[in-house]
Amino acid sequence: MTDPGTDLATPRSTPQASDLMERVVNLCKRRGFIFPSAEIYGGFRSTYDYGPLGVLMLRNVKDAWWRAMVQQRDDVVGLDAAILSSPRIWEASGHLANFTDPLVDCRSCHERWRADKIGDACPNCGSTDLTEPRAFNLMFKTYAGPLESDATVAYLRPETAQGMFVNFANVLQTTRKKPPFGIAQVGKSFRNEITPQNFVFRTREFEQMEMEYFVAPEQSGQWFEYWLHERFAWYRSLGIPEEKLRLRHHDPSELSHYSTATADVEYLFPWGWDELEGIANRTDYDLRAHAAASGERLEYFDQATGERYVPHVIEPAAGATRTMMAFLLAAYDEDEVGGERRSVLRLHPRLAPYQVAVLPLSKNDALVPLSRQVLQMVQQVAMCDFDVTQSIGRRYRRQDEVGTPLCVTVDFDSLEDHAVTVRDRDTTEQVRVAIDELSATVMARVLR
Ligand code: ATP
Repeated sequence: MTDPGTDLATPRSTPQASDLMERVVNLCKRRGFIFPSAEIYGGFRSTYDYGPLGVLMLRNVKDAWWRAMVQQRDDVVGLDAAILSSPRIWEASGHLANFTDPLVDCRSCHERWRADKIGDACPNCGSTDLTEPRAFNLMFKTYAGPLESDATVAYLRPETAQGMFVNFANVLQTTRKKPPFGIAQVGKSFRNEITPQNFVFRTREFEQMEMEYFVAPEQSGQWFEYWLHERFAWYRSLGIPEEKLRLRHHDPSELSHYSTATADVEYLFPWGWDELEGIANRTDYDLRAHAAASGERLEYFDQATGERYVPHVIEPAAGATRTMMAFLLAAYDEDEVGGERRSVLRLHPRLAPYQVAVLPLSKNDALVPLSRQVLQMVQQVAMCDFDVTQSIGRRYRRQDEVGTPLCVTVDFDSLEDHAVTVRDRDTTEQVRVAIDELSATVMARVLR
């Protein structure tokens, strides 16, 4: 064994909610998950850049969603629609008229707030002297082409969903799917949020993972229930503890302009329960609106029964960036190993930036080439880090801190027995595995 005895983990109390946020934000910056955007210029209005580890983890979150929503089903297909979009889409969908938040100004300190999030007093100075709320449209407006005129107005999409509705007929024709079936999309959306806040929880540029599931109108209730359960189970399957998740049904007064029923999957963030994902019954609102505005028929014709109808839509709409933050918060832990404190991200192996770290015990001339061979082999099945600096104990701590589930150490015995030590992040237990069997071991342990 490479690090005998001293490396066994013992539990320690998990940080309190108030510290947790700060520790996770610091970790994200220090280890290259998330940087404030344009930091060298003092940052830019709550925008963020995803660093070398953040880009891996965000991709893993999106892949885990795609795997569950598209790959492991035969009733959902994918789409990647344009971000830059025609005003006609947003006029028909109702976003130009209705996609607004109620904006209030504090007359005392002149801060601006979303009226529905603050009660009747300014969170900054406590004054109750607020202006009447006025509707503020959240869409980013720009111009396509060199002329800035009404004729060249374009919008950055505020949700990915409309791409699925305007391509409904294209997808139906090209895939020969019939209801119930879904169209899934992952990508950037933009909202000119009045108060971006809480790190990447609410930003103006963010990523969504949305699926529009088209069903016969009379089946919409049962499919709504089905997707509530499926989506709740997805977060559980990726390691979020049950006590930190809940489903909350919207009151009629909270419903969006297109929805007859909505429930949110909520996570217990350090500041309280807040939304990870909304599951909405959008009825036939969007297809009818686009059919009326475009003059195209957006309906399903069932050749077997001769029936023609406009499908109703159940939409599970999640945030990739917001969900990544919840996974980080849920995974952060501290314990003691060999009497020394460590911080550890107990991420599900599929979400961890690296699944495996390959670590030569020393920079020895014979160990490094063998370690590189091991690395190249494991890289075929998993994302790997390779680290030759510092003591092995230090390197384990660095991998624990970013959530790497397995460390593979190549030591001097490896030159003789063609085996390596595989160390588990959570238990810190070490087992000897033959190099020939390493890829299979890695696949069994991290691709579950
Ligand atoms: P909120 O009430 O928090 O503004 P919403 O109900 O308007 O959100 P939806 O339109 O249902 O959000 O969007 C679906 C998902 O997209 C949300 O559950 C969230 O995960 C993500 N999302 C929405 N707005 C943002 C944002 N500004 N920043 C990060 N993620 C977002």
